Amino acid sequence: MKKNILVIHTGGTISMEEDASTGAVKPTKDNPMKDKNDQVFSMANLLIEDPFTLPSPHITPLEMLKIKEMIEDYLKNQDISGVVITHGTDTLEETAYFLDSTISTDIPIVLTGAMRSSNEIGFDGLYNYISSIRVALCPEARKKGVLVVLNDEIHTAKNVTKTHTSNVSTFQSPQYGPIGIVTKRKILFHHQPMLSDKFNITSISKNVPLLKAHAGMDSSLFYALKSLKIDGLIIEALGQGNLPPQTLPGLSALLEDQIPVVLVSRCFNGITQDVYGYEGGGKQLKEKGVIFSNGLNGQKARIKLLLALEANFDQSKLSDIFSY
Ligand code: ASP
Repeated sequence: MKKNILVIHTGGTISMEEDASTGAVKPTKDNPMKDKNDQVFSMANLLIEDPFTLPSPHITPLEMLKIKEMIEDYLKNQDISGVVITHGTDTLEETAYFLDSTISTDIPIVLTGAMRSSNEIGFDGLYNYISSIRVALCPEARKKGVLVVLNDEIHTAKNVTKTHTSNVSTFQSPQYGPIGIVTKRKILFHHQPMLSDKFNITSISKNVPLLKAHAGMDSSLFYALKSLKIDGLIIEALGQGNLPPQTLPGLSALLEDQIPVVLVSRCFNGITQDVYGYEGGGKQLKEKGVIFSNGLNGQKARIKLLLALEANFDQSKLSDIFSY
């Protein structure tokens, strides 16, 4: 008997077409991925949902929550062996990490997308879609958390990031590499990922901005954020976790308001550490109460802090969940 795979189409280039006269790539009236289903129906019994058709820059944590609830609903009421989600690539890693941090299940949940739209030469969407269904059907993909499958590679939600604006090999896991590969005949895993914390949430309401540090940065944006009444802040800091000294008065003003501030690095390899003892160096930032992170990138640290705050996680223990 064919296994049931839940497919959730959410939009993105994988469901778009190029207008030959203008060159503009846009969503089509009917999702082209649905026409392609004949080619994949032989693999599994596909239960298809398309809750929205959005370019992924239009996806917010509210849509992520909707996808989570849809999956949990199926998990409760249907016998499904896996889930495949098609998604725009720009924010795919954030949705993947959100789902990885909120859904508890052993079955594979796989996100995929495309870099070329459905009527362009070299459309990678159908291939990635088929690869993702194969991974979702594969028993070895169970208990590995949420996975991202494109271009014959299997990545974890935690480590994967979009690294190239247009190349089909855009999804990479800097420092760690993919955990598996998709070949013509087999799905092969070569690493066992660490599983993430799960946050129990039913709503999403917090405001956590993301700031990138730069040479000569001052306190003005920190003061602006103080007046916006934010719930937390992620800073993509310099190197191992340092900030220009001119940011310190604004940063201190946020910390005095008990706003949790998490530091990631703007380097895409390595973790942040309190190494430097100069003005604005990591040692001083840690003493002030800034939380150092474990190598998550800024956009995923933002998702983690949003979820932790939403789940009322004990703020004095926030540094623990960012330490691994
Ligand atoms: N801008 C598109 C999106 O994220 C890119 C893609 O899907 O590849 O929706």
